[in-house]
Amino acid sequence: MDRAKKTIAQVGEFGFIRSVMMNCVHAPEKVIQGIGDDCAVIGPYEDRVLLITTDLLVEDVHFLRGKISFRELGAKAVAVNLSDIAAMGGIPRHLFVSLAIPRRMPVEDLSELDAGMKDMCRTYGVNLLGGDTSASQGGLFINVTVIGEADAKAVLYRKGASSGDRVYVTGTVGNAGAGLRLLQEELIAHDDLREALIAAHNRPRPRLEQGRLIAGSMLASSMIDISDGLLSDLGHICEESGVGARIFEERLPLSDELKALCRVNSLDPSEMALSGGEDYELLFTVPVKNAESLEALLQRHGHLFFEIGRITEGKSIRVVLAGGTEKEVTPSGFDHFAPAKRSPCPPSPCIRFSPDD
Ligand code: ADP
Ligand code: MG
Repeated sequence: MDRAKKTIAQVGEFGFIRSVMMNCVHAPEKVIQGIGDDCAVIGPYEDRVLLITTDLLVEDVHFLRGKISFRELGAKAVAVNLSDIAAMGGIPRHLFVSLAIPRRMPVEDLSELDAGMKDMCRTYGVNLLGGDTSASQGGLFINVTVIGEADAKAVLYRKGASSGDRVYVTGTVGNAGAGLRLLQEELIAHDDLREALIAAHNRPRPRLEQGRLIAGSMLASSMIDISDGLLSDLGHICEESGVGARIFEERLPLSDELKALCRVNSLDPSEMALSGGEDYELLFTVPVKNAESLEALLQRHGHLFFEIGRITEGKSIRVVLAGGTEKEVTPSGFDHFAPAKRSPCPPSPCIRFSPDD
């Protein structure tokens, strides 16, 4: 290897994204948000904006053949994109899918993949309008792009959180990360437990209703979906908003399944909840003066919410442990190129590089 040239492993996934953010916009009219949020935002067109998001799923990086059915994989490829539309408070409308397919792949498996995508599209009223197909010399690559729309005034961004705001999540965290561990390791778990946690990893549901309600209320200050891990995604909100945060370990919403798995395998459920990815719950912040109204609104619509911490001044993210001690943490969620030790519970079976490779 040429020692003078930095590798992607040295700069990391998010360092790389920062480096491509420059010199991107040559016709700024109508570009409200470019790189740096869950969706790009374009408009306004009268009082509406377009939301556009794209995600790539790569075999042996994001999924392992045999550990997820092709039907589930198709649905998941769509769901993770719909989750980014949810994170801005939008409505998904249209979808494009591009596939790079290994030559020996059975057509039957591709039909199942297609059926899974269409299941998810039907459920959320999304049109599949095009894409591209190529042969792959390696594994299967699935790229999905979704176009959505939202009320221009009600879009919620990663930026916007202020010191004092309350931090909430829309559901339990850590289940999907635990499901991945079950797929990768020999852990003790009875069949029902195993099935429930693996389903959380293989069959995520986008929180579209909650996203629209939270953004539409105009009561929240920022929002993101939890794809990389709670701390990592909270880190994105903090970075974009120029703030820090304090999270209370005792308030983390942990499912009974996660607690049971951790108990019998001597694992730390809080660590799974903080660093495991792919829960696709929404993480959002709310100024204190609006908190009661937004809580009442979510309650009225029968949606779960959990207050887990506060936005603070400064830039550090701190976790207040159950015993009362506080420790500063790095947002150690999922970075595709991070050394393995920084992400003990990655959301996907990722190939990792250490800085010395
Ligand atoms: P999410 O987890 O919500 O899908 P990502 O972390 O993948 O978000 O991406 C963060 C931002 O970086 C988004 O605005 C995305 O469009 C942008 N982005 C990611 N990779 C690239 C790339 N290779 N070139 C340009 N923009 C990128
Ligand atoms: Mg996102």
